[in-house]
Amino acid sequence: MRELMLIDSHCHIVGEQFDDDRDEVVQRAREAGVRLMLNIGTGDPHSDDFRRAVAVAEKYENVYASVGVHPHDAKLYDDKAENHLIELVRSSDKVIAWGEIGLDYYYDHSPRDVQRDVFKRQIRVARELNLPIIIHSRDADDETVAILAEAFRPAEGGTQNGIMHCFGGTAAMAEALMPLGFLISFAGNVTFKKADNLRDAARVVPLDKLLIETDCPFLTPVPFRGKRNEPAYVVHTAKFLAEFYGISVKTLADRTTRNFLEFFKLELDSVTSAG
Ligand SMILES: [Zn+2]
Ligand SMILES: [Zn+2]
Repeated sequence: MRELMLIDSHCHIVGEQFDDDRDEVVQRAREAGVRLMLNIGTGDPHSDDFRRAVAVAEKYENVYASVGVHPHDAKLYDDKAENHLIELVRSSDKVIAWGEIGLDYYYDHSPRDVQRDVFKRQIRVARELNLPIIIHSRDADDETVAILAEAFRPAEGGTQNGIMHCFGGTAAMAEALMPLGFLISFAGNVTFKKADNLRDAARVVPLDKLLIETDCPFLTPVPFRGKRNEPAYVVHTAKFLAEFYGISVKTLADRTTRNFLEFFKLELDSVTSAG
């Protein structure tokens, strides 16, 4: 098991839940075989939140960052916010994606028309910056697919447009997004007893389109459900999905790691030496 190579494709280790023990959390991830983590900045784009998310990536050699305004905060998006995030992208090689962006009609923290406008606007910005996007979609699957289908043509083999994070949609949604150049990332909730709908979706995702993530500090996988989540626990989602697909956990770990590295055109050699 020491040989496992994993990547947590979506985590929030910048969160205050990790302020007391972030070094240990990153160290535990390393010991669990997590070679890379993508730390997603969220929050008020007029605050210091995103700068701190990038600083976490600058601090740890195996952490990358993403910036973009979450649909919850879409109502805060304006030119000033946009310029601030663009400057952060330009300030650090560690910022490799724009997101999480999308639609959240479960909480409706921002008006839906604003969410849609800001989602489309951020897709354009990410494109201009040549960054893939990280998508968040909750209770808005049809509109998420419609907006992405309008923005992206069916992709040639290698085109990498984005990642559908913490996949919570239907098999049909996954099937609609993969041809548009999107990878499908499953979080710890796929391990939950009642999540048959997620497993129905997982069934249609081929191994070369699959990623795994923690979305920590939330969505802690079984057997740690209820505790704070952290990147080291991505191994439990890997084990669960490997069993589900009937393959070894090493195969699943290697494959999802390769998918992530190819997607972002990264290599591991440069980041593993400090392991
Ligand atoms: Zn999300
Ligand atoms: Zn997230």
